[in-house]
Amino acid sequence: MAKFRLTMARQHGERIATEKGFETLPVDPFKIAETEDIMIVPKPAIAKGVSGGIIFDEDYPSIFYATDIDNDGYQRFTVAHELGHYFLDGHPEEILKSSKMHISRAGFSQGDSSIELEADHFASGLLMPTLLARKELGSGVIGLSGIEALADKSKCSLTAAAIRAAECSPYPMAILVSEGPNISYCFMSEGFKSLGKLTFLRKGTPLPDSATREFNRDPENVAYGRHLTQETSLADWFDGPAHIKLDEEIVGLGSFGHTLTVFSSDALAENAYEEEDEEASLVQSYTPRFAYGR
Ligand SMILES: [Zn+2]
Repeated sequence: MAKFRLTMARQHGERIATEKGFETLPVDPFKIAETEDIMIVPKPAIAKGVSGGIIFDEDYPSIFYATDIDNDGYQRFTVAHELGHYFLDGHPEEILKSSKMHISRAGFSQGDSSIELEADHFASGLLMPTLLARKELGSGVIGLSGIEALADKSKCSLTAAAIRAAECSPYPMAILVSEGPNISYCFMSEGFKSLGKLTFLRKGTPLPDSATREFNRDPENVAYGRHLTQETSLADWFDGPAHIKLDEEIVGLGSFGHTLTVFSSDALAENAYEEEDEEASLVQSYTPRFAYGR
């Protein structure tokens, strides 16, 4: 599916957050539904793997979400995803083609249905608009701790925050989710991609020899959400220049059996901020001339 459709869906989510007056995190999808007269119905248990859905039966649509996974971030993301089906062009029509009710499956799906992916990107943009996410990520705490802070402030899951961080991090960062010996997915920020000619880590391929691979050998590390940080290099993971050192920060994501690995470094972050400062001071030094230098 075209990447630009996903970008548009994300930007649409960001726009709704702004239109509804959210200038700081967290953005509240329940409040947004209220302003659109959408009824929200918590459901204790639906079917396994079902996170929620939207019904276009009445004059006003209603959204339901599963409460059996007792996790605020998960439930907010579900409601935001369903709002995507309401706000995004063509979604209600697409859903009404087959039935009045649409059922969504768990989490930030890596699924193949186009409206599901679009609704996920809408939710991601709605809950973590670029400006607000960049501001949080740029507040000085880098890597996994920065992602944890973003997750906390936006009330999103660590995984959703990590994916968003890789999209809009102000310094080079890559995130990788793995399961057992294999890579589930990997995203790199624009700054990270420009560190060299890098290999793209593909879904379903084995993890390289690494601390993450070792970590995943013990399922308890994953289940109990243990943390581990090791030094690695761009060469070890991405076939990039070996002199670029990275922190490999690893955390078990609990019962789903996934592991999150974050690649970043203080040195790379400092460089990125210095470049930004240089740009800013150039702008500053020019401004007076334009303003008063006649
Ligand atoms: Zn859906």
